[in-house]
Amino acid sequence: MKRRHFIKNASLTSVGLAVGSTLVGCAEKTSEEKKATAATSSTHSKATLPLVIATWHVIDATAKAMEVLQAGGNALDAVEQGCMVEEANEKGQSVGKGGLPDRDGNVTLDACIMDKHGNCGSVVYLQNITHAVSVARKVMEDTPHVMLAGEGAKQFAVSKGFEPEDLLTEASKEAWKKWKVEAKYKPIINIENHDTIGMLAIDKNGDISGACTTSGLAYKMGGRVGDSPIIGSGLFVDNEIGACVATGLGEEVVKTVGSFLVVELMRQGKSPQEACEEAISRIVNKPNSNYKDFQVGYIAVNKKGETGSYSIHQWFSMTKFQDGVNEQIQSDYFNKA
Ligand code: ASP
Repeated sequence: MKRRHFIKNASLTSVGLAVGSTLVGCAEKTSEEKKATAATSSTHSKATLPLVIATWHVIDATAKAMEVLQAGGNALDAVEQGCMVEEANEKGQSVGKGGLPDRDGNVTLDACIMDKHGNCGSVVYLQNITHAVSVARKVMEDTPHVMLAGEGAKQFAVSKGFEPEDLLTEASKEAWKKWKVEAKYKPIINIENHDTIGMLAIDKNGDISGACTTSGLAYKMGGRVGDSPIIGSGLFVDNEIGACVATGLGEEVVKTVGSFLVVELMRQGKSPQEACEEAISRIVNKPNSNYKDFQVGYIAVNKKGETGSYSIHQWFSMTKFQDGVNEQIQSDYFNKA
């Protein structure tokens, strides 16, 4: 059963009432491109653009992204600025400033971003810089590389004008101290009502971009990196087909190259919803899968502007801003037992 929980906030909807254009699947494609996307373009449906979706309940972040799009900004600017809202929110303990630390008390961030041309940038194990997603964008735009890690990523950020700061807030320090009493490491399903922020947007030109940012699993081993900054696992964008972003236990997403899988399934003709469901089934149907102990969730959008989301367990949700409505949509899920 799908439960739709509408959050119609007057101040938010006012941002997006004057929505613009509509998109028809394969406009402006060459014949080669048409061949490559035959499966997805065979049934054209109209979607009102622009649109934004994000993992979890992040209406402030999607509102910011929509504001950028409504002002004529492109999808890349929208996903970056949307993610920055959560990175700066100290109360969110799984992203940016205020993120829960690793077992040694260090807050380490992972993030990536991908544009309509397939360009991408990523940072892993970044410390002391709140806006990891923006550093990832700089990696994409200002270096010949895709990924920078640790101290190198931090030095690069500083060289680009990012101010180093302490990301461990009092609240997160207290939580870590409490955890240290028993120091049991067990990934918790849906740690709270939001987690890694993954965001996908289609701008009024029909172009897609995506971004993903996280402090990773709380109390992870020092040096651990999850799926979120790994292009193809935490995020994948193919402007001809669609895009996907993941949240949950990163190790399981990496093992199935989850986001790339979802996009490839859409290329083969599956809807975003069907593709997310198939990618989750690859995880839960593995021999000896212990899926009851962890959560993974995907959200996806295709070139036609259709969206989907699915998770292993209940309580995963997607925030969607389209047609002036900024709403949290509870995802359907696999484990109904
Ligand atoms: N996927 C992230 C990771 O494994 C965590 C999360 O989404 O909560 O680092």
